[in-house]
Amino acid sequence: MQIAPAVRVAVGEAFGMKPGELTTGKIYAALRMIGFDKVFDTNFSADVTIMEEGTEFIKRFTEGKDLPLLTSCCPAWTDWMEKYAPDFTGNFSTAKSPQQMLSALCKSYWAEKNGVDPKKIHVTSIMPCTAKKYEISRDENMSATGQQDTDVVLTTRELARMIKAAGIDFNDLPEEKADDLLGAYTGAGTIFGVTGGVMEAALRTAYCLITGEAQPPSIDFQDVRGMEGVKTATIDIKGTKVNIAVAHQMGNVEKVINQIREDRKNGVKPRYDFIEVMACRGGCIGGGGQPCLATDAVRAQRTAGLYTDDEKCTLRMSHLNPEVKELYDNYLGKTGAQGGEKAHHLLHTNYHKRDVYHFEG
Ligand code: SF4
Repeated sequence: MQIAPAVRVAVGEAFGMKPGELTTGKIYAALRMIGFDKVFDTNFSADVTIMEEGTEFIKRFTEGKDLPLLTSCCPAWTDWMEKYAPDFTGNFSTAKSPQQMLSALCKSYWAEKNGVDPKKIHVTSIMPCTAKKYEISRDENMSATGQQDTDVVLTTRELARMIKAAGIDFNDLPEEKADDLLGAYTGAGTIFGVTGGVMEAALRTAYCLITGEAQPPSIDFQDVRGMEGVKTATIDIKGTKVNIAVAHQMGNVEKVINQIREDRKNGVKPRYDFIEVMACRGGCIGGGGQPCLATDAVRAQRTAGLYTDDEKCTLRMSHLNPEVKELYDNYLGKTGAQGGEKAHHLLHTNYHKRDVYHFEG
């Protein structure tokens, strides 16, 4: 079992809690009571995503190739891009989404370390998202371990129904911890659930990897936060200027995509080096699988819950996650962008133009 960042600040709404209330430990406890043998956290693989995508960005930025880099953890966005903007397939990060990374690591790394046959593992993921249900079988890259890596996706609403059906008193549950190897997370991993969060997490780590410094002057990149449809900024990494954009909701995304098309037409350098995209308003906290009827006030509360989770973490940068370090030291070696074959096979994918089907009647 794995749970995504945004689930922890929303499932409590089904049990009378306020939006944004952090219920991570209670969710772990509920899942164990329901009968899941191991409970992992997608926040862990969000940290892994930063290792893969961050080093991919540094490589492309240094070489000046295939920019802007577009984030790829939102399957609704990747699907849209393959159908309506196939001229951008080369710009996409090849890093898989955190959901797919965790499942692939569970059926390879975790299975090997625990002597379990991957064929006997069934991975269920709890997501704030309905598009994640499509993602698990989008192509052969989603079966990197020789079988489908994620077996089933349930939404936050479906999790709430499952807890109620099991007769569990969610409010009274103790706070439990996730299981080892794929359960530890940093503040950077948890903010993946809000618009701007992936960019902020990537910038925290990229700054350290580029400069060799222990941390950026400010760990909070305020420019990428908030509900504005398109947020842009120039980040100064010790004299190196990185132009970024963050867009959420597809209408806003299209505007940014068209700006890059305009730059291409005019033969000038793209105005952005790195773009984060989320299809849902506010990012995954406003996803299609979350409790219904979210207003912007509700989105703001869920967002605040994830930033609180970030601030509560002792470690707030993905590359400092001890289990991530263990994963690279003892199993993967290098990231995909640094030439790591295992990482590339398990954690990366590719994109191509897809047909748009029009249904009639
Ligand atoms: S932004 Fe929406 S569609 Fe995209 S991954 Fe998050 S919940 Fe799913």
